[in-house]
Order: sequence, then C-alpha cells, then structure tokens
Amino acid sequence: MRYAIGVGANRGDRQATIAAARAQLIDGITLIASSTSHETVPVGGPLGQDCYLNAVWIIDTQLGPHQLLHRLQTIETALGRTRTVKWGPRTLDLDLLLRADGLRIASGVLTLPHPRLHERPFVLQPLAEVLAHLR
Ligand code: ADP
Ligand code: MG
Repeated sequence: MRYAIGVGANRGDRQATIAAARAQLIDGITLIASSTSHETVPVGGPLGQDCYLNAVWIIDTQLGPHQLLHRLQTIETALGRTRTVKWGPRTLDLDLLLRADGLRIASGVLTLPHPRLHERPFVLQPLAEVLAHLR
C-alpha cells in the first residue's frame, strides 16, 4: 500500500538530514517518488525560527499505519529529534499524510489523513509534485 509522507527540517544541515532519513527507509519500506525540496517560512510555533526545507515522499510498504508511524518516529529520534517546544524547531519531522486508499483513522496517536494537510501550502505544494505516484 502506498502512503504520502511529509518531511520537514529546520535546523542543522537540513538537506543532509533529509538525505539521511531517506537512507533509513529500509526493511519493508520502498521509496517510490520524492518531491523537490521547498524552502518555506515557519508556520506557528515560536517566533524567529529558521526556514524549513519541506518535501513529500511516496512510499510503498506492507506495514500498517501505526507500525509505519512508529518507524517514522524511530527515524526522527535517530536523527536527533527532541520533543520540547510544540511546533518549535526540529532537526526532522516526518508526518503520515495519507494512504492511497483514503483510509481514515482517528486514534489517540494517529489521525489519517493528516488533520492539517489541507491548510498547509508547505505540504500541499510538494505533494502536488508526487501525487500521481500515490495510486
Ligand atoms: P507536528 O508534526 O504537528 O509538528 P509532532 O511531530 O510533534 O507534531 O507530532 C505530534 C504527535 O502527532 C505525534 O506524537 C503523533 O502521535 C501524532 N500524530 C497524529 N496523527 C499523525 C500523523 N498523521 N502523522 C504524524 N504524527 C501524527
Ligand atoms: Mg510530526
């Protein structure tokens, strides 16, 4: 099943972090397509944050959505993500945006499609580049 994943980084060597994260899509996760990197101004969170690099990946996997979320969080942690300030600066943010079949989930830990997807140009623009690969 294919999923769209939103990628964001706004501290350190952002491009290197995103490349390192992509290299960790192993063990049952296949990268199908990657958008270009979009430089974007931070939305929400504390003032004065550095700009983000955002991208969207299409991946293919047999993992269920909760398993996949857990794998994404493991990659975030491995690449130095710490959770301090809500919407504060982060080395890496990996969000599950949607699943190809339109699966809807509203559990305590996972909402699909991503609840803020429709209002975030920094996600929608890279998503538009790779959406054709979602089916
Ligand atoms: P954000 O991505 O909104 O900046 P975080 O990355 O800190 O915030 O994620 C906060 C929590 O959001 C995660 O612990 C996770 O359980 C939850 N969450 C709910 N739905 C999703 C989703 N579709 N993708 C990623 N995380 C999600
Ligand atoms: Mg996130």
